[in-house]
Amino acid sequence: MKEKLQKIREEAVRQIEEAKELNALNDVRVSVLGKKGELTAVLKGMKDVKPEDRPMVGQLVNETREAIERTLEETKKKLESAELEHRLEKEVIDVTLPAKQNSVGHRHPNMIALEEVERIFVGMGYEVVEGPEVEQDYYNFEALNIPKNHPARDEQDTFYINDSIVLRTQTSPVQVRVMEEGKLPIRMIAPGRVFRSDEVDATHSPSFHQIEGMVVDKNITFADLKGTLAEFAKELFGEDTKVKFRPHHFPFTEPSAEMDVTCFKCGGKGCRFCKGEGWIEILGCGMVHPKVLRMSGIDPEEYSGFAFGVGLERIALLKYEIDDMRLLYENDIRFLKQF
Ligand SMILES: [Zn+2]
Repeated sequence: MKEKLQKIREEAVRQIEEAKELNALNDVRVSVLGKKGELTAVLKGMKDVKPEDRPMVGQLVNETREAIERTLEETKKKLESAELEHRLEKEVIDVTLPAKQNSVGHRHPNMIALEEVERIFVGMGYEVVEGPEVEQDYYNFEALNIPKNHPARDEQDTFYINDSIVLRTQTSPVQVRVMEEGKLPIRMIAPGRVFRSDEVDATHSPSFHQIEGMVVDKNITFADLKGTLAEFAKELFGEDTKVKFRPHHFPFTEPSAEMDVTCFKCGGKGCRFCKGEGWIEILGCGMVHPKVLRMSGIDPEEYSGFAFGVGLERIALLKYEIDDMRLLYENDIRFLKQF
C-alpha cells in the first residue's frame, strides 16, 4: 500500500512538472484527486485494509494528497505569472493610433444670440427674469390692456388650455408679474418661449422666443427709451449702427413705435440683404400705458416707464444671416456647427 501511494505521488508530481499550461494542470488534479481519481480510489479501498492498519494508511494517504496539492498550487502560480507576462508582451499599446472620436454638441444660434443680448442689458444694470409659459389669460391679455373681444387677440391667436389659461403669446405678461411684486424701480429683461397658432414657414413657427424688456422709475421718458435701444443696437450690430423709430400701435404702450436699424451689411445704402431699404426692422417698443401701470398697482402720476419686445429668432437670423427659420429647429449638428 505504501509503495502504491509512493508511485501515485511520483507519477502525479512528474505530470505536474510536465504541464505547460493551466488546463493541463487541472487535468492532473482531476485524474489524481477527483471523484474518480487514483488517490480517491485508494481511499475507497480503505474498507479492505485491516482495521489496525487503517490509521497508518489514512495518514499516508493524507500526506500524499497534501504533497500533490502543494505541488499543484506552486506550479499553478508559476504558470499564471508566466501567462500574464506573455500576455503583457503581446498586448503592446500603439499610442500613435488615432483615438476614438468623441463628438460633442454645439451651442444653438438662438442661445448664442440670447447670451449676447443678456450680456448687453446686464451690463446696463438690468435683471434677467423668467415667467411661466402656460399663463393666465389675465396676464397674457387683460392686464396688458387687451380686453376680451379686442382685435389684437386675433393677431395673437394661441393655444387654449381652457377659457382662462393659455400658452402665452408674448413675454409681456412677465412685465405684469414683476410690476405686481411692487419693487420699484424696475429694470428687467425676460427672455422665453412663446406660442401662436401659426403655420410653419420660413418666417413663422407655432413656437418661438421673445425677449421682453421694461424699465419703470420716476421721470422715465421716451428719450431714455431711445438712448437705451440705440446703445443696444450699437452693441449688437456694430458701433456705426443707426436707429430709426416709426410710430406704431400696441395696446400696452402709448406712444408706441417700431425700431429699425441700419443694415449692417451695406451700412444703410441698400443691398439685397435689406431688400434695398437700407433699414431692417428689429423690435417693437413704447412708453408703458398708464392704464397698464395702474392695473398692476403702480401710480402713473408718480412713475413712468418704457418697454420693448424683440424676437430672439429674428436677431439670430439677422446676425448669422440665416434665411430660413426652420433651420433653427432642426438641430442638425452640421448646421449648428457653423456658428
Ligand atoms: Zn443692406
